[in-house]
Amino acid sequence: MAQASGADYIFKIVLTGDSGVGKSCLLSRFTRNEFSLESRSTIGVEFSTKEIQMEGKTVKVQIWDTAGQERFMAITKAYYRNALGALVVFDLLKLSSFQNLDQWYNEVRANAGADCSVILIGNKADQRHIRAVQYEDAKRYADERNIPFIETSALDATNVEQAFRTLITDIYRHWA
Ligand code: GDP
Ligand code: MG
Repeated sequence: MAQASGADYIFKIVLTGDSGVGKSCLLSRFTRNEFSLESRSTIGVEFSTKEIQMEGKTVKVQIWDTAGQERFMAITKAYYRNALGALVVFDLLKLSSFQNLDQWYNEVRANAGADCSVILIGNKADQRHIRAVQYEDAKRYADERNIPFIETSALDATNVEQAFRTLITDIYRHWA
């Protein structure tokens, strides 16, 4: 946690999860309130920042995003280094993205450290009729790891602000 001019705190947060689950869309929804239906592959690593107010303090969140291929590159360590929070994202419509969660969760735990706050996100909640992962199963996964679980839609903005806020509040409680 760095302190910098203009903000009382800077928190680094990372997005992880399979390619196509909606990480970049969640990021643009949260930081710019934009959504695009066409998938634009993230090249390497990108990050966006947003300032939010918390208990009268200005918190600058720096949110890192990748194309999901980072584990094949040498940048994994740098990606997670100093991250205080992680959103582990799966696609509610795609079972394999749920089955792959261990890989992402373990990667966060191995590289970001035990103190990193983690939240599980099931994205694309707007498509209820074709969901492949049940709420109860995802909730159980999160409960077993003692992390929150929130279903979001980057498309219609449901719970996106709440998901980021939940994570940032948890980080704030730990560090601020
Ligand atoms: P990433 O690879 O994890 O960064 O995934 P993207 O953010 O690029 O999104 C992959 C695809 O899923 C894109 O076609 C998005 O338009 C779509 N998508 C992302 N979020 C949602 C959502 O909440 N609902 C629906 N229906 N589609 C979404
Ligand atoms: Mg992306």
